[in-house]
Amino acid sequence: MNNNLKRLLNPRQIAVIGGAAATAVVRQCNLIGYTGDIWPVNPKRNEIGGHRCYATVADLPGAPDAAFIAVPREPTIEAVGQLAAIGAGGVVCYASGFAEMGEAGRTDQARLQAAMGDMALIGPNCYGVLNYLDGVTLWPDEHGGKRLERGAAIIAQSGNISISLSMQRRSVPLAYLIATGNQAGVTVPEYIETLLEDERVTAVGLHLEGLDDVAAFSRAALKALQKRVPLVVLKTGATALGSQITMSHTSSLAGADTLYDALFARLGVLRVHSIPELLEAIKFLSLVGPLPSGQIASISCSGGEAAIVADRAAAHGLTMPSLLPEQAANLHAVLGDRVALSNPLDYHTYIWDDEEAQYGCFHAMMGGSQEVTLKILDFPRLDMCDPAAWVKTGRAFARAATDRGARGVVVATMPENLPEAVAEPLLAAGVAPMWGIEECLVAIRGAAHIYAAQQTVAEKQPISAPVPLAHADGSIHTLNEVDSKALLGQFGLPTPKRAVATGENAVATAVSLGFPVVVKVLSSDIVHKSDVGGVVVNVRDEVGVKTAVSAMSHLSNQFLIEQMAPKPIVEMILGLTRDPQFGLALVLGAGGILVELFQDSQTLLLPTSRAEVESALSKLKIAPLLDGYRGQAGVDKAGLVTAVLNLARFAEAHADRLIEVDVNPLFVYEGGLTAVDAVISIADEKARPGTL
Ligand code: ADP
Ligand code: MG
Repeated sequence: MNNNLKRLLNPRQIAVIGGAAATAVVRQCNLIGYTGDIWPVNPKRNEIGGHRCYATVADLPGAPDAAFIAVPREPTIEAVGQLAAIGAGGVVCYASGFAEMGEAGRTDQARLQAAMGDMALIGPNCYGVLNYLDGVTLWPDEHGGKRLERGAAIIAQSGNISISLSMQRRSVPLAYLIATGNQAGVTVPEYIETLLEDERVTAVGLHLEGLDDVAAFSRAALKALQKRVPLVVLKTGATALGSQITMSHTSSLAGADTLYDALFARLGVLRVHSIPELLEAIKFLSLVGPLPSGQIASISCSGGEAAIVADRAAAHGLTMPSLLPEQAANLHAVLGDRVALSNPLDYHTYIWDDEEAQYGCFHAMMGGSQEVTLKILDFPRLDMCDPAAWVKTGRAFARAATDRGARGVVVATMPENLPEAVAEPLLAAGVAPMWGIEECLVAIRGAAHIYAAQQTVAEKQPISAPVPLAHADGSIHTLNEVDSKALLGQFGLPTPKRAVATGENAVATAVSLGFPVVVKVLSSDIVHKSDVGGVVVNVRDEVGVKTAVSAMSHLSNQFLIEQMAPKPIVEMILGLTRDPQFGLALVLGAGGILVELFQDSQTLLLPTSRAEVESALSKLKIAPLLDGYRGQAGVDKAGLVTAVLNLARFAEAHADRLIEVDVNPLFVYEGGLTAVDAVISIADEKARPGTL
């Protein structure tokens, strides 16, 4: 398949099948200067775009590396079968009416898949591929790109987004644009893996609506990290969680979108949230590359822009290092006493229009400890104004960057103020023309994260494929607190000493446990006990037990009497949640009754590691409490990490049954921890505790 996809992406022969759309493909191939053979298949015409037509696939002079099939659904399936039979490399299926229509089209999509054999199939319901490296346009429409030597690939799930992307004119070096359509054949992870084998690909941008095979994506992303090809993803739409899942605290914290965040963060994939961010990020990563740190410097002619950069850099966690003594001295030599020297630098307009002085200023500024220097520069409108002075500034900046061997980018605060006519010369001089301060800073933050992920690639592992449920009849069994705690206890999770009682022996049970105790209602039907008055804490005597029990006797005739755990340093939540795409995921965070309010949690995909758990803990807002806040003692971190890893072991051991685990709260102390509440849900009516 991989080899056939390579044939399809860079074909020596292209067959086009159909009328108007096929003609458009030929036209685009002619325009871009495609050098291979073009074989139109059309029984009603003699030639298309100057190439002779064949009446049927059977008449073709050989097996084409690529075919663009632009006929309706039924003849598409037929043509795919014929092409597979003669050994074609791959096909683009333009026709719609397949799985994108839901149930109605699914059978036909399955027939298409059966017909394709081991050909690479793009689509159906898609536009196809633009390959600007080799000059191949399997594309039935206008596009706005040019040939180049190296650049980024974009893989887009939406056809219209891919058309719009093909019209970008913000100097993104675009090597490939692939519209995936329904992914009946080639899937996103396969595109990524094949593109990674092309040394000319500098970054891969993705527009995703969802991922069918998260584990395969994680393997491809890991390869990208190993090959040092940055991935940037615009992931839209949150998948709804399986409807059968009960709403525990844990699940409320880890929706599908959080799982995607966890996936991307784990594999050093930059997640962006708009099309401009996607384009600026792949541009930056292709032209400048990953950055060893998020330290930046900025130069502008005004304090206004300097302040915007400073504010937004801080918001993105980027730092602007102070000027080094030598850097300040060199700047002073050019700018004199009238300019206050700092990073960000407002160099005023005293030396405007003086290319040499500006060169000196930029050269001096680039001698700092920053990884990249931003020059904020908005060119005047070219239809009314003379840009000569601005061109000088850009040229001075590019020369300074080259002479210093420093990374430098020109950033327009408004995209329209950096049109291609002025951006292209900057690009040619080695300076990335960036559109928008915000987008540029997002790209820089991503470049630093990607660099960091690349350094730790050896420790990273792909995520495991979800284990299907052994009993997927939709029945969910919730274990009561006692059974849940007993199971978790088998995996080393400490819990308070407890005993089950009835209304009659509750007092005696409490006495033998020793006061103070907690009295709780025990019922697998009650998930949130406090909400219904089912928990009384700090019960200090026999009367207290009687009062508590009688107040909850309408809820159940079974009670849990538990030793009162001392006040912890932190109350945490620890849990597992199940998602159809991701399988089981671990959630940890700030716990207790306010858990939904604080939403302070981290999600870890499985398998996980000690280092990942430690890093997740350090990202929580409550991290300072764990370390010891304001003179207070910190918690037993090693014990906490072990408890989380034990829960991960538990998840792996029961992956075919677990729906949810909710340990909330987990009381964490200086010298240990205890789970004061736990609820487990499993997908099996008949399962009994201990037989999980
Ligand atoms: P719910 O079903 O409402 O979540 P919990 O068992 O979590 O019930 O109890 C509610 C609260 O009572 C907990 O958040 C905790 O603060 C306190 N609590 C419960 N059990 C204990 C215990 N053994 N020791 C100390 N406090 C407890
Ligand atoms: Mg609870």
